[in-house]
Amino acid sequence: MTLDNGEKWFKKGRTALKIQYCPACEKYIFFPREMCPYCLEVKPEWKETTGRGIIYSYTTVRRSSLSEFQDRVPYTYAMVELHEGIRIPTNIINCPVDRVRIGMPVELAWIEESKETIPVFRPAP
Ligand SMILES: [Zn+2]
Repeated sequence: MTLDNGEKWFKKGRTALKIQYCPACEKYIFFPREMCPYCLEVKPEWKETTGRGIIYSYTTVRRSSLSEFQDRVPYTYAMVELHEGIRIPTNIINCPVDRVRIGMPVELAWIEESKETIPVFRPAP
């Protein structure tokens, strides 16, 4: 995913999860867009999120046809609803798949891959 400020969603070395925000109607926007989908303001801002949220929905991936994911199963693919109100697709780490629950509080974590830094979430203390 390439963002309209030229940053990449999986940019190596990222430490902050920024989400578009519309100052005109005061709503967060995800996925990134050229203009606000609510009021059509053309210049959404970028705001750093709290990195906290809850699991809105999830599924357990037990089998993958993609070679790069075959050694990761089983894992949790989830929609996390951030404190800011937007929902993003992600993975849940540091939590056995049978412990994951809808409504579980989670916090931002990062996975370092060879060329990317990927935003994921783990159970919040
Ligand atoms: Zn707006």
